[in-house]
Amino acid sequence: MSTAVYKVCMLGDFGVGKTSLVARYVRSTFSDKYLTTVGVKVDSREVALPGGDAVKLVLWDIAGRSALDAPSVSYLRGASALLLVADGTREGSLSSALNLLMQSRSSLPDAFAVLAVNKLDLLDRWEVAPATLAELRRSLPVFETSALSGAGVEAVFAEIATRLRA
Ligand code: GDP
Ligand code: MG
Repeated sequence: MSTAVYKVCMLGDFGVGKTSLVARYVRSTFSDKYLTTVGVKVDSREVALPGGDAVKLVLWDIAGRSALDAPSVSYLRGASALLLVADGTREGSLSSALNLLMQSRSSLPDAFAVLAVNKLDLLDRWEVAPATLAELRRSLPVFETSALSGAGVEAVFAEIATRLRA
């Protein structure tokens, strides 16, 4: 039995739900108040994998910032995975997430990337079309999540843990 430790960076526009997804996953909580992230916040959770091994995901959550700023090299340094987050009710947040991925690739060419399209509980207000998601799924794993209801949240982090362990 061994526990491997991996750094995972949350990336996405202001207000998409990065901090809320971490809170849901690590503490099983949700708040509808905007939780201003100051600087960088680090949280972690251990995941048991089939076969007895465990993986510890160390989640780095950066303060709300516009996607026009490239993620800093010190934020990304040593990351094994990137969790890109978009807000399904804001089409523009999807381009922001993909932009951030492109910008991160120069310092992290090999990191495993997944996309969470969040706020699934507001599906009737989604601007992101199913066809767009289908197209994106050809290049990276895409999950639909809700930090509010918890839908899809375990699945997205389980995918990261499984792929990093593989
Ligand atoms: P961040 O800037 O990406 O860290 O975004 P936050 O996690 O602070 O969330 C921004 C706002 O969206 C807050 O008011 C949250 O309560 C809300 N929010 C986050 N995730 C969800 C979700 O899945 N569903 C709904 N309805 N609201 C959410
Ligand atoms: Mg935040």
